[in-house]
Amino acid sequence: MHRMKMYEHYSLKALNTFGVAVQARYFCSLRTLGGLKSVMLWRREHPELPVLFLGGGSNMLFIADFPGLVVQVGLEERRLLAEDKDFVYVRAGAGENWHEFVRWTIAQGYAGLENLSLIPGTVGAAPLQNIGAYGVELKDHFYELDALDWRTAELRKFSLEDCAFAYRDSHFKSVEPGRWLIAAVTFRLPKQASWKTNYAGVSEQLAGKTLDARTISAAIISLRQSKLPDPAVIGNAGSFFKNPLVSAAKFAALKANYPNCPGWVQGDQVKLSAGWLIDQGGWKGKRVGDAGTYEQHALVLVNHGQASGAEIWQFAQRIMAAVQEQFGVSLEPEPNLIGG
Ligand SMILES: Cc1cc2nc3c(=O)[nH]c(=O)nc-3n(C[C@H](O)[C@H](O)[C@H](O)COP(=O)(O)OP(=O)(O)OC[C@H]3O[C@@H](n4cnc5c(N)ncnc54)[C@H](O)[C@@H]3O)c2cc1C
Repeated sequence: MHRMKMYEHYSLKALNTFGVAVQARYFCSLRTLGGLKSVMLWRREHPELPVLFLGGGSNMLFIADFPGLVVQVGLEERRLLAEDKDFVYVRAGAGENWHEFVRWTIAQGYAGLENLSLIPGTVGAAPLQNIGAYGVELKDHFYELDALDWRTAELRKFSLEDCAFAYRDSHFKSVEPGRWLIAAVTFRLPKQASWKTNYAGVSEQLAGKTLDARTISAAIISLRQSKLPDPAVIGNAGSFFKNPLVSAAKFAALKANYPNCPGWVQGDQVKLSAGWLIDQGGWKGKRVGDAGTYEQHALVLVNHGQASGAEIWQFAQRIMAAVQEQFGVSLEPEPNLIGG
């Protein structure tokens, strides 16, 4: 059996995009499913310890050291699985870098994932919060995934329905967090592409251009680079809060006081802009110690250098309290809060 190298008191500073200096009590890196057997044997001897699956660490805020085992999922694989008249089916291992995978699909001539270009992280974590950007969500092109039950080592397939995808949410995030290790994801990409370019900013970037997946991807990359801080330069996890959903009556009441308040109807609810709400309190570019908001985008919390996860979380809670007080709206963090 493949023996897994187990590290103790392992620094996670370089493995989370906030760049907070925390440690894992135990740490291992999983490169093959074969290696999993040895991790599960080890785990049987330490049943009391919590386990955390780690991809690129771009959607987590570590509030404290992690007292258990961190398993970095590095399973790599990319291939065309099948095709029919209308679709190609491509499969990617959980450890594949998301953006590299998107680039690969485009290079193969497959369309569908171009609007999701440049989202940091891994393929395996992408279903957790049903990643989305510029009018497209992972669920729009998802076919199925393979996941391993961490308690029994059973390998199971999850269909689109099983995953219960919703806005920045899934079965794996809110119903059974930590139970399933996602090993590989299969996408169903259309042979006849239909582009989604009517999103603010995207249509302007593409005006006058002939549309194809490569061109749209380039426009999305340039938009993202102009708006979002690069975690390699300044620690962050992208948008820190979800856009809140409120009732139509609540939205009408907000509009009466704040005529410019943006909102998008979603069924019988209205989605507000978390960024707009935060901006109204003058939070853009604010800073307490090394924790702050990005100067171009109040929705993005940043670590200017030495902030701890607890300090960033305290800062986030101040924003949440201010928005609650001014608008009576609750903000919910988007990244996974670990520890504390
Ligand atoms: C600059 C920036 C921009 C961003 N923009 C967007 C955006 O536009 N849209 C968007 O949706 N998100 C965005 N994000 C958030 C982030 O990129 C995504 O959530 C991404 O999918 C996280 O991937 P990861 O591998 O880094 O996950 P991690 O942070 O490593 O993990 C996230 C969660 O998934 C779990 N997990 C990880 N791997 C597995 C696995 N194999 N099996 C089971 N559970 C697993 C972890 O335990 C954790 O709960 C952005 C982040 C940054 C830093």
